Amino acid sequence: MTGDRKYILTVGLEVHANVKTRTKMFCGCLNDLDEREPNKNTCPICLAHPGVLPTMNEEAVRKVIQFGCAVHGVIAKDSWFDRKSYFYPDLPKGYQISQYDHPLVEGGEIRGVRLTRVHLEEDAGRLQHSDDGSTLVDFNRAGVPLMELVTEPDITTADQAVAFAQELQLILKYLDVSDADMEKGQMRVEANISIRPDESLGLDQSEGLVGRTGLQSKPVLGVKVEVKNINSFKAVAGAIEYEVKRQSKLLDEGKPVVQETRGWNDVKNITESQRSKESAHDYRYFPEPDLPPLDLRSLDLEDIKRHLPELPDAKRERFATQFGLNVSQIEWLVGDKSVAAYFEAAASELKERVPGVAYQTLANYFTSDLRGLLKTAGIHITEVKVPPEHFAHFIALVEDGTLSSRLAKDLLAQMVATGEDPETLMQKSGVKVMSDTSELGAVVDAIIAANPKVVEDYRKGKGNALQFLIGQGMARTKGQADPAVLQKIFAEKLG
Ligand code: ZN
Ligand code: MN
Repeated sequence: MTGDRKYILTVGLEVHANVKTRTKMFCGCLNDLDEREPNKNTCPICLAHPGVLPTMNEEAVRKVIQFGCAVHGVIAKDSWFDRKSYFYPDLPKGYQISQYDHPLVEGGEIRGVRLTRVHLEEDAGRLQHSDDGSTLVDFNRAGVPLMELVTEPDITTADQAVAFAQELQLILKYLDVSDADMEKGQMRVEANISIRPDESLGLDQSEGLVGRTGLQSKPVLGVKVEVKNINSFKAVAGAIEYEVKRQSKLLDEGKPVVQETRGWNDVKNITESQRSKESAHDYRYFPEPDLPPLDLRSLDLEDIKRHLPELPDAKRERFATQFGLNVSQIEWLVGDKSVAAYFEAAASELKERVPGVAYQTLANYFTSDLRGLLKTAGIHITEVKVPPEHFAHFIALVEDGTLSSRLAKDLLAQMVATGEDPETLMQKSGVKVMSDTSELGAVVDAIIAANPKVVEDYRKGKGNALQFLIGQGMARTKGQADPAVLQKIFAEKLG
């Protein structure tokens, strides 16, 4: 048992996300991360032939600025690109065009975690290592725009880190800045993780903090370990939890934590040492001479903010007040833009059919039954054959009592399987809904004639008389009438 509890965890994240644009960052090649044919989207610029000149992709700059506005960051007035020099076979120029001390965005905040900066750079190519020891290079990804975001060390638990990364992904998707699919490598996370003794427990401040920083007499952050290769939300939590255990054990034993870069091993669920910081590169940053500096003073930032789509937090709030949904329902809906859009379309169709309707039945069938059916069928909401208006119609039939909950479950399954509207399916299966007013008018006339006493009660204002008459109507039609239609006809004929 290691003494995790007596240490305070501090985590800062660095996230890279591929920006969705038509073309690459500095040339006209397609930015297509799904291209399977190696080196198809390449040209002399992204292959770094001598004498070529980069041209800035405005769409990428605009998208990062939109992101900056969305997270309440400060957009730079002057910004420029720098060369970050290092040698690696996936980097044909021998330097990456990135941003150093004048990033596009500074500050901002997501889920209570402050952002240090957000900048734009270019991605590297991909290396493919073969079993025979050979390595091939694919430059399709070389030069595609990449957004880098750095947070302040504000994160103190693994859960908080995961929540931050998930919210960041959601915002990127809402803005259409990035698909941010971690499995596809479109969003990559690095974590700077350190622990230090909890001062409130009165431990000797210097204990275990020897490391590379020497003995400390005043409170300091612990020695920082950088973990790379974090390719899923599960790995974000796993890497932090593993580092807390590993570093706590070292400090408990009076050993120093070495400042180094480690890699997350997804198979073993551990971090492994990659290189110590002494061998860290000197990147020799200097301003990229082939690109003009950006003067962003003329940008109408208020206009950009006005045109941002509704963001997840605003949608959460609106869904709570407009539809009265609970937190877990809202999280599922807002967690996917197209799921939320489907729900809203169905809600507005339902409101047209049944003015003044509450949305709880709709939300319940949507977040439990329909969601379950989608999961079973292995399809996404965008692939479901049931259009929102059919789903709203179905809910209206549940609301007015035409469909019992048992009947409703079966019918919804048939709707998902066939894509047909609920009434057609009910007719096919013999569960007919009678809503034809002339047909029902005859039924109502017969009931009125047969129940003079109840009709008299109704006219005297007895509340349950109408319910009795509608009940008679449902009985005579063997439950196939629409009770709302029956009510309307009774009211008309007796009114
Ligand atoms: Zn190119
Ligand atoms: Mn970077």
